[in-house]
Amino acid sequence: MQIRLFRQTRTSLALWYAVVMGLILTVCGFVVYEVIIDAYLFSINQELESVSGTLHDVIEPTLKKPGRMEPVFQQVLPNICLVESSCPTEKIFGQSQHTLPEHGLFSPVYKNKQYYIRFVNLSGRLIAVAGFQPHELPAIVQTKVWQTLKDPQGNRYNQKTLPLHIQDNQVWGYIQVGRSLKELDNRLAALKLVLALGLPITVLLVGGSSWWLAGLAMRPIDRSYKQMQQFTSDASHELRTPLAAINATVETILDIEHLSEQEARDTLASIQRQNYRLAELVSDLLLLSRLDQQTLATQWVPCCLNVLIHDLIEEFSALASAASLKLTSSVLSDQPLYVMGDEDQLLRLLSNLIANAIKYTTAGGYVNVILKCNNGYAVIEVQDTGIGIAPGEQKRIFNRFYRVNSDRSRTTGGSGLGLAIAQAIVEAHRGSLHVQSQLGKGSTFIVQLPLTVNPLSNPNP
Ligand code: ADP
Repeated sequence: MQIRLFRQTRTSLALWYAVVMGLILTVCGFVVYEVIIDAYLFSINQELESVSGTLHDVIEPTLKKPGRMEPVFQQVLPNICLVESSCPTEKIFGQSQHTLPEHGLFSPVYKNKQYYIRFVNLSGRLIAVAGFQPHELPAIVQTKVWQTLKDPQGNRYNQKTLPLHIQDNQVWGYIQVGRSLKELDNRLAALKLVLALGLPITVLLVGGSSWWLAGLAMRPIDRSYKQMQQFTSDASHELRTPLAAINATVETILDIEHLSEQEARDTLASIQRQNYRLAELVSDLLLLSRLDQQTLATQWVPCCLNVLIHDLIEEFSALASAASLKLTSSVLSDQPLYVMGDEDQLLRLLSNLIANAIKYTTAGGYVNVILKCNNGYAVIEVQDTGIGIAPGEQKRIFNRFYRVNSDRSRTTGGSGLGLAIAQAIVEAHRGSLHVQSQLGKGSTFIVQLPLTVNPLSNPNP
């Protein structure tokens, strides 16, 4: 179920990502395509403008009668051909290309077969052509300034038309300069092909990589989901144990016909013990969940660690002597050390560590609580000469419900939540908690909490 949910989420994330990226890339591709077309057309039109403008300026002052070809046409455009003398098109032009004068004003135009120059009379009839003469462009031509024409083969031409005037400002006819767009169209076709192939490949790559990234992003979610499941099953297991014990006790008592007062008292005492364990477990779970959700009503006040440790040593001394242990404290700081925090939570943190040190140290051992300061942090070390923790276990002991030796921990009343609570409290106080331990020699739990100013040393609080 969980695996299916994660796979579905991962797939839909990857799909959405690929679709969105595909759309963005398509829009970008379209814009790039348009920009390239514009840039090409702009430079082509600039060329057309300059060629037509120059021809116009050279020819116009010599014109005398509308539609009459003056000698200047031949001088400026050496291979100009009159249409009425049945002009050869590309072929002839191709042969004559080598014989064209190199020094001609428009030799670049001639050399480049992509240009043609046409002269049109007032009634729109073609009079003469020069340069590259495309096949089957309409002979009766329109005289719009800018036109894009297409021949039957589908080749496109951009053409500029300018009117030519004779001296009394009468119109002589028109000059048209055109250029083939074949090269542009070829390039654009190649670009279209690149875009048409590149886009789907890119979208596939994006889809694949987002599938992989979604997997990476979901790993922590997956981990915490598994932790939650583990936690739920551990919690149920822990809650079931005292409940089963209560149930068994009650069933045994119900089987007894005549219950003595002593038996009744023993039974109730046993139920009370189990009940106490249950209540403790539930309150630990509640505390943990509130610490997780940061919904615990926390009283942030300056807390004096010297006082807290002194009180705790006093409180635990009876337990320590009952276990035949020596419990001491050493304060390695001249000043009292204060941290900002919740006193109850700090007491809970330290009492969990001291209680563990006592629990896991055999008779005749030694537990010492050291308080010192280091680089703006208060450092509390709870040292014991107890059973120690194997290196492989040292990280795991902070996990919820984790116990190194379940049987032993259970007999000592532990549920495996003590260190998890200690760690959550330390984190809520922006500190750190870690352990140094050697199996069979003892452990040291080190708490670091950020120091705050001593409120008593401040004359103006
Ligand atoms: P528990 O309630 O079982 O003590 P904790 O979360 O407090 O749970 O501790 C987790 C485990 O870490 C314990 O079961 C124990 O095995 C190990 N542990 C904790 N403190 C010590 C210590 N001072 N010495 C040795 N082992 C310890």
